[in-house]
Amino acid sequence: MKDYGNNFNLSHIESSSHIYGPGKRFVVWFQGCSLACDGCWNQEMWSFKEKSLLSKEKLLALILDASEIQGVTFLGGEPLHQAENLWWLMRQIRKKSNLTIFLFTGYEQCELERFRYLSNIHELCDMVAIGRYLVGNRNINQQWIGSDNQVIVYPDNSREIAKSESINQVEIIIEDNESIRILGFPDEFLVNDIKGTSS
Ligand code: SF4
Repeated sequence: MKDYGNNFNLSHIESSSHIYGPGKRFVVWFQGCSLACDGCWNQEMWSFKEKSLLSKEKLLALILDASEIQGVTFLGGEPLHQAENLWWLMRQIRKKSNLTIFLFTGYEQCELERFRYLSNIHELCDMVAIGRYLVGNRNINQQWIGSDNQVIVYPDNSREIAKSESINQVEIIIEDNESIRILGFPDEFLVNDIKGTSS
């Protein structure tokens, strides 16, 4: 694991998304993951090489400036590989806004305990999706998780009550230059439909 000082090493940011937690959210994909789940859909986010370095103060400002969002979602990559800066960011978000915080981690509950992450999780997070992605348990029809072994927990200080539903959500973003981006995990029929529409 690398130390990026006062910075986060990020893969990607969406300032407005509806499929990574309740309501409209600011979503941050961290760069770097050592957990190497078989079948991981985000393998380009495994490398710890600097991809997009952003100071923690700058990321905080971007989040607080985002308009009409309900919360912030952190995923990756593995956000907890950059835990110290992440706890700082979450603490500032809680102090300066009412935004809810949804953390996705590939660590299992016992690992969160072993690495002493649980007290910060209970203090700072509203929802946490916990566990490795297991390709044999893949489930594309459950909101927010990718495989049946993963669980969503509501820590002690949670202000969130929304529950995961049995649906598959994808988000289609049409850019100003009319290029199309898809977020989430669409089935092949939808991908083919979109390719047909855009050709
Ligand atoms: S924890 Fe997430 S990013 Fe890391 S390998 Fe597993 S599925 Fe991929």
